[in-house]
Amino acid sequence: MITIKSKSELEIMRKAGEIVALAHEKIKEAIKPGVTTKELDRIAEEVIIKSGATPSFKGVRGMPDAPLYPASICASVNDEVVHGIPGLRVLNDGDIISIDIGAFYGGFHADAARTHPVGKISIEAERLIMVTMECFYEGLKQAVFGNRISDISAAIQVHAEKNGYSVVREYVGHGIGREMWEPPQIPNFRTRERGPRLQPGMTLAVEPMINAGRYEIKIDANKWTVRTLDGSLSAHYENTLAVTDGEPVILTKLD
Ligand code: MG
Repeated sequence: MITIKSKSELEIMRKAGEIVALAHEKIKEAIKPGVTTKELDRIAEEVIIKSGATPSFKGVRGMPDAPLYPASICASVNDEVVHGIPGLRVLNDGDIISIDIGAFYGGFHADAARTHPVGKISIEAERLIMVTMECFYEGLKQAVFGNRISDISAAIQVHAEKNGYSVVREYVGHGIGREMWEPPQIPNFRTRERGPRLQPGMTLAVEPMINAGRYEIKIDANKWTVRTLDGSLSAHYENTLAVTDGEPVILTKLD
C-alpha cells in the first residue's frame, strides 16, 4: 500500500534527509586518490550515528542466499552500478564513485545517491555524471500532483537515451517512509503500466541508474555488487522527495 505522510511525518523525514545530505557532504570532502571505500563508509557511519540516526542499509537482506549487507553505504566504482561493498579498494585518479546512503531517524528512512569524480576524470565520465543528475531533475519536474509514476519514468528514460546512454532495468526507485522500500516501484524507463497517480504526501526515492554503454548488468560472486555487463561506466543520482499540492520538495538536502 502506498503511504501518505502527514505534515509532521514529512518534517521527520526532512530531518532524516538532512542527515543523509550531511553524510554525503562529508564523503564528498574525503574523496580523493588513495582513499579506501571502507574509509568513506566509516565517515558516513560516524555522521549518521552522531546525528542520532542509524544506517538504513546495514544488515539488509538481499538475494535469498546473500549475506546480510555489511556496511552503512554502497560505494560503487566505475563499471559498478549499485551495491558496491566498501572495503580495502583504493580509489585511483580518474575513477568515478557512486555513493548511496540511507538513514533511519525518528521512525522514518531517507535515501540519496551521488556520483563523484576521483581526481581528474575524462570528459566522457564527467558528461555521464552530469546527464545522470539531469535525469533525476527531469523526473522531479514530473513528480507533481495528478501525474502518474510513469511520467517520472518516461522523462528519465528520454533524457538518458537522448544523450546516448541506457537505463538499468533490474533496479528501480521506490516509495519510502517507515520502510526503506515501500510501494510504488519507480522504474527509470517506460513500462506497460501507467503506475499510480501522484498525491500530496507521497514520498518517493527517485534514482536514475544510467550506463554509458548497454543496459544489461551482472552480479558479482559476493551476491551484492551490480556491474555493467559490457564494462562501461555507470552513474547513480538519487533523492528522496515529497509530492505536494504544488512543487515537489527534495527532502535529502541540507537546510
Ligand atoms: Mg533508493
